[in-house]
Amino acid sequence: MASDSQIVTCPSCGTKNRVPVAASGKPSCASCKAPLPWLTIADDRSFAKVVLESKVPVLVDLWAPWCGPCRMVSPIVERMAAQYAGRLKVTKVNVDESPAVARDYDAMSIPTLLLVKGGKVVDRMVGAVPETQLTQFVSRSVT
Ligand SMILES: [Zn+2]
Repeated sequence: MASDSQIVTCPSCGTKNRVPVAASGKPSCASCKAPLPWLTIADDRSFAKVVLESKVPVLVDLWAPWCGPCRMVSPIVERMAAQYAGRLKVTKVNVDESPAVARDYDAMSIPTLLLVKGGKVVDRMVGAVPETQLTQFVSRSVT
């Protein structure tokens, strides 16, 4: 089951911050106020709260542990959280544990990457892609 918060180390000052998976604002460091990377996990139970109700755009990574290409793209997806800190939330969804999300978002082949804004999928990409292509995918929707 996905946790409601996680510890994120501030990239600017090293302070450890507890960051909720769902919040109305954007996470920032308690010490230096720098925006924090927002890397979260969601499942069928929490998807609406974590992704659809998010006030910031969300990059959703639909993946599974047995999927080789997913493991290739996973660190790249996670780097987007740091690169777009304060502007993007990154949410990983294990489709094996989240059959409703997999069905609703048509994750027939994985990894499937979704860009969700205001509860709507505005862009999607299937397959492991290089970092430059993923950056282009995100920057089309996130300024
Ligand atoms: Zn800090």
